[in-house]
Amino acid sequence: MIRVKRQPRLPPSGLTTTACLEQIEAATKLYRLRRNWSLKTSLTKYNNPTVKTALEAMFHGKCAYCESIYTRVGPMDVEHYRPKGGVVIEGSVEAPGYYWLAASWDNLLPSCRDCNRNRRHLLLDGSKEVAGKKNQFPISNTGPRRRWHTAKRWKAGIEKEENPLLLNPCNDFPEKHLMFDDAGNVLPTQSRTGRESVKGKETIRVCALFRPNLIQARRDMNKRHRSQVDAAADALGEFDAQPAQNAARTNYADELRSLTKMRDDEAEYALMARQLIDPALGTFAKGIRRHRAQLDIRMTNGARNLIDRFVVAYASPPEPPTAGELAARLRAIETRWRRR
Ligand SMILES: [Zn+2]
Repeated sequence: MIRVKRQPRLPPSGLTTTACLEQIEAATKLYRLRRNWSLKTSLTKYNNPTVKTALEAMFHGKCAYCESIYTRVGPMDVEHYRPKGGVVIEGSVEAPGYYWLAASWDNLLPSCRDCNRNRRHLLLDGSKEVAGKKNQFPISNTGPRRRWHTAKRWKAGIEKEENPLLLNPCNDFPEKHLMFDDAGNVLPTQSRTGRESVKGKETIRVCALFRPNLIQARRDMNKRHRSQVDAAADALGEFDAQPAQNAARTNYADELRSLTKMRDDEAEYALMARQLIDPALGTFAKGIRRHRAQLDIRMTNGARNLIDRFVVAYASPPEPPTAGELAARLRAIETRWRRR
């Protein structure tokens, strides 16, 4: 998951149609005024092409949670960050959910089916586990749950009083909560005092980000990232040796361009890519500074902008976790899963 800016700021036209608003009104009458929690009401009109198109453009055809490119395998689910029909509380689904947000633009995200639905996954140890978000929306017990409301206390935006434990790419900075190892596993980040990110941990659990096919896909991608870092390092070595040579310079610029593409918003598993590639770009930025004169004179504008971006953004790269730290945390996570 990477942070994504919600755009356009105004809702797509499909969320403000009469049909859409009437459905929300009917649900509000049923649940808020009549206090009838057991009846179901239809909340479907949010799901229309204007919404899908906007979400697809905003997330570049990637799932908001796992960053897989779903457009390769099938249509997206228009996912409600706060579930509309019911919500899991202490292990069981209780109705209604956050029905008043069923057509709220800020509550909608594109999701792949494996993250959004409850599906059976075959784990690496041969066991099976049913996982996926569906009606889950964990919140911190340090704040209230605003699933339903009394007429007296209800007000627009009441849900904002909650402290969600599920990461939202439009509100949170996922890089502060999720990290990856070379085997494709995702882990919650840890503070200096050893405390795991609860948001990271809950997001991994709720969206089943531990599912084996996803781990495998990330592992394969990690190999490509590593070989591209190596290719750029080799190209820098050649350029260092022969800075006046056109071929060496062009090759270095090409390899850097390929490397940055892997960590851009459009790229699959971009958060994992950034964890590996961004520190490496710090080293490359030093190489770029050494050869600034040649690069500036002969590069295209696009490439020069790219180089400027490296130098500014990656001059002091963050320290990646050590292999030992990652291994210890993986062991802890495995133990926890076995206990469940
Ligand atoms: Zn997904």
